[in-house]
Amino acid sequence: MNKAPREPRADAVAPAMTTGQVAESKEGDSVAAGVGASQAAKGIQALGAAAGAEREADAVACGAADAAPHADPRELYPEELAGIMADMAEPAYRGGQVFAWLHKEAAPSYDQMTNLSAALRHRLEATLPIARPTLLRRRVSTDGTIKYLFALADGARIESVLMRHREDTGHIRHTACLSSQAGCAMGCAFCATASLGFKRNLSAGEIVAQVLEIATIEQTAIHNAVYMGMGEPLLNGKAVEKSIRLLHHPQGQNIGARRITLSTCGLPEGIRDMATWGLDLVLAVSLHAADDDTRSRLMPVNRRHPLGEVLAACRDYSEATGKRITFEYAMIKGVNIGADTPRKLVDLLNGIPCNINLIPVNPGAHGYKPPNQKERALFLRALQAAGLDAVVRQERGQDIQGACGQLAGEE
Ligand code: SF4
Repeated sequence: MNKAPREPRADAVAPAMTTGQVAESKEGDSVAAGVGASQAAKGIQALGAAAGAEREADAVACGAADAAPHADPRELYPEELAGIMADMAEPAYRGGQVFAWLHKEAAPSYDQMTNLSAALRHRLEATLPIARPTLLRRRVSTDGTIKYLFALADGARIESVLMRHREDTGHIRHTACLSSQAGCAMGCAFCATASLGFKRNLSAGEIVAQVLEIATIEQTAIHNAVYMGMGEPLLNGKAVEKSIRLLHHPQGQNIGARRITLSTCGLPEGIRDMATWGLDLVLAVSLHAADDDTRSRLMPVNRRHPLGEVLAACRDYSEATGKRITFEYAMIKGVNIGADTPRKLVDLLNGIPCNINLIPVNPGAHGYKPPNQKERALFLRALQAAGLDAVVRQERGQDIQGACGQLAGEE
């Protein structure tokens, strides 16, 4: 959604970020994993049903458009692949084998699928080519965060991020921060992606491919996924939902639903729709202000969906799912951390089981500044004293333009 990528769960006040050495790979480097993707001439039917009426209205209002027709084996469930196998006069179980190669093993080509015959691998390559993005840049932060700039088949640019963190158990966990759209139409005033404008929605395969490509490039397992990269996920709800089901699939990456976070700028109908998915996800809603005037200045979407509407949808979501909601709050010096803000937030969030993640705004061309350490600590303490469950989130990758849209903006 915004700003520097954050871990899905964090409980410590963030230390000041340091700058340092940045390893960078550009197009043509040996690390570049992608090949130009091609679209199959005979497409598998796009499976996403029409979006909800409000999301359609939002998409029209924002100039959004559906993803390009895309036949991509990475966006097919095992049973869909089994149907294709049947059409090719192959046993249905081959569908499960191909799915496991594509998703569990993150195989980037059919060549690696050694339990398929060479003849079948060639037929699949000819009829159902794997649509891989091309890695254009890879930057490594001093804190271990890695940022990727990918080009999709039509040249659209997206960013993804890999974060590493140590859990209380001592295990290292990897979190992939994913883009759901190329660019974004929501126009948040503090966001680098907003300045790029909106290009198009990503397909489910293009979303899942970010995890699979990162797993291949880094030769590592991905344990968490956060939809906090480029775009508003709930304006691309059907593809996002399918991508989550694919990442969660037990024959694939098998990422636990509770380890998947969807972050939205707050689209009421999308939030209510998400409650019907039956997935135990983490919903994160960007709040960023305690009154409509301030929020409308920071987030133009607030003019169409003011706080009252957004929070009513959040209440409905919590009641329907029994889940707590995470509210993201970008702290901006002199804008949204006033002394009266904690009380306003208490009133606004009354009755919603929730926690608040505070994130110092990422400095950028927008001109907004993060509060200093003392101001951050003061605001945190004031929220906690008011009875709110708040933490300051760890920022990642600031030395590598970790905030979404910054790398693509350099192109
Ligand atoms: S402009 Fe889009 S990507 Fe940026 S913070 Fe707003 S919703 Fe998220």
